[in-house]
Amino acid sequence: MAFELPKLPYAPDALEPFISKKTIEFHYGKHHQAYVNNLNNLIPGTRFEKSTLEQIVKEADGGIFNNGAQVWNHTFYFTSFSPKGKREPAGDLAHAIEKQFGSFTAFKEEFAKAAGTLFGAGWAWLVKNSSGTLDIIQESNAGNPLRKGLTPILTCDVWEHAYYLDYQNKRPDYISAFWDALDWELVSERF
Ligand code: MN
Repeated sequence: MAFELPKLPYAPDALEPFISKKTIEFHYGKHHQAYVNNLNNLIPGTRFEKSTLEQIVKEADGGIFNNGAQVWNHTFYFTSFSPKGKREPAGDLAHAIEKQFGSFTAFKEEFAKAAGTLFGAGWAWLVKNSSGTLDIIQESNAGNPLRKGLTPILTCDVWEHAYYLDYQNKRPDYISAFWDALDWELVSERF
């Protein structure tokens, strides 16, 4: 069964000025699509021919893991945004963030620091562990918290392809704009 690029729940220009149409066209239309194509080309003849994407993320190595995890990570990332979403968490997730980090502002600072200081390509994640506690972790390259038994709640892609067209080398500016495109109603559903 071939994997497909999931449809975006918003128009390519819907997240402007925070994430431009041009970035969506390249990041989603070219990079995300390439990971899907690569994965589909790598799977035939391996034990992953009938696997779900989540199984591949948890069990594969090498190119199948890299491309499979990048498909999963990008789908998770792109489905965290909406043009008119809730820009702050509410309910249980808001309480958990306050309990763990002190306040939403303090959480944002800590998450932005993790995203900003990650050396090279990778992803910053807000995760929930098996005891229900929140944590912020960094993963290099295609890294995914599912492999560590953690539940992903939110991610920020800090590969340069995520921001270079809009912000060039200014990763902190991209991270700052990231908050303005997030929809915490969608994020909260994962908690
Ligand atoms: Mn990316």
